[in-house]
This record gives sequence, C-alpha cells and structure tokens, in this order.
Amino acid sequence: MGGSFKYAVISDVHSNLEALRAVLNDIEKEKIKKVLFIGDVVGYGPDPVKCIELIRKRCIYSVAGNHDWAVIGYTPSDYFNYNARVAIEWTKEQLAEDDFKFLRSLSIVKVLEKEGVFLVHASPKEPDAWNYILSLYDAEINFQYFKERICLIGHSHVPFIIETLPSGEIVLHREEIEFKESCRYIINVGSVGQPRDGNPDAAYAIINDKYARIIRVRYDIEKTQKKMEKAGLPEFLIERLSKGI
Ligand code: ZN
Repeated sequence: MGGSFKYAVISDVHSNLEALRAVLNDIEKEKIKKVLFIGDVVGYGPDPVKCIELIRKRCIYSVAGNHDWAVIGYTPSDYFNYNARVAIEWTKEQLAEDDFKFLRSLSIVKVLEKEGVFLVHASPKEPDAWNYILSLYDAEINFQYFKERICLIGHSHVPFIIETLPSGEIVLHREEIEFKESCRYIINVGSVGQPRDGNPDAAYAIINDKYARIIRVRYDIEKTQKKMEKAGLPEFLIERLSKGI
C-alpha cells in the first residue's frame, strides 16, 4: 500500500531560525530530499521573514497553522493568549507583502493521494477550529475524519505516534514505529521552534513507507533567546525555550 516514499516532516517553526537551520541541516545529513511543512512558520520567535523564506525554498508541500492564519487575519486574535497576541502583532510589523502573500497561499489540508498521507496542522475533524488532539479518545474520533492511512499533525508541540489496530484498539507510541499492514496512524511530529514536551531540542519526523521516527536536534537556544530579547518579545516566551515547556 502507498508505494515507496520518504519524507522529512516539520511543524511549528515559530520564527526560530536557529532551530529551523539545525533541523534542515540534519535532514540534509540524512539525505532526505522531500520536506513537508504542517504549519505555524511564524509566531513567538524573532525571525519570521527568514523562516518564511527557508520554508518556501525547502518544503514541497505546506499547510497553514493557527499563527499563520492569525497574522493574515483569518483567525481572530482573541483566540490567542496575551503573549501569543503580542508576538503576532510584532510579526505583522516585520513582514513584507510577499510574505503575507505566501501565508495566504497556504491551504488548510493537503492530501498525498499516492502515499495515503493526510496533512493538517491541528485536527482532521475541524481543521480551522484548531482543536488539539491530546488523548487517545480525541484521536479515535479524528480517525473517522480522514480516509488515508497516515495523518500528520503538529499544533500541540508534543510529538507522538498513535496507531489504530484493525480491532479498533488504539495504541500510543512515543518515538518510533514500524508501520503494519491494515493499521492507521496519527503522528504528531512535534515542534521545530518551541518544543513543549520537556525536551528543549528541536523536533521533526522522518516518515517512509515502512516506518516513522521522531528525531531531536540540538540548536543554539541562547542565540534565539538573545534575538527575542532584542526584539522586545515577551519574557515568558524567551524562557520557555530553554526548558522545552
Ligand atoms: Zn504552534
């Protein structure tokens, strides 16, 4: 099923150029040519323009995240907490028309028919409601809202692999899985630019027709934090990067 393929999958870059560069270097080292992006290139961090430029250059398919949509006015800013709103307003001031145009061009879902892969930032059930998939119960419901074998998501900044067996049983895996015939999967690839699973290293995923694996990559956190300070971004957003929360 699906034929052979290999992708690196990145999400939730959040204007963190140091993290994005480290991840793209790692992907290059792994000799993976095709990179998929599943949303939130901007928000929180200090380098929105350069991150947009890199994502445009390196990713073959990209979908929109809630911060991307907030910056172009598609998602109202009252959806966000105070710190996120401050960063969104700051981001708007940095972008040029061409950057806005790119964000407006992003679709909310993308289906890779041949590979049987569904891409969405938050959840297949209501892609533009930005609901989180946080439990096996959330996952069980969402399996009904895409027909492909594999759904790739981001949004919560916590990586996981959820497998549904033909019996209907749902199993959680943390870092790695070998795909089984007749099982389906929801995979959260974690966050490049603001991990929240207690590990501050940037996260991304490698997916091919046989397995999925979550990869962690060290990057220069202090450098990003110094840029955020200089930009006057909220203290809370600066501090959380070194804790990975
Ligand atoms: Zn995000």
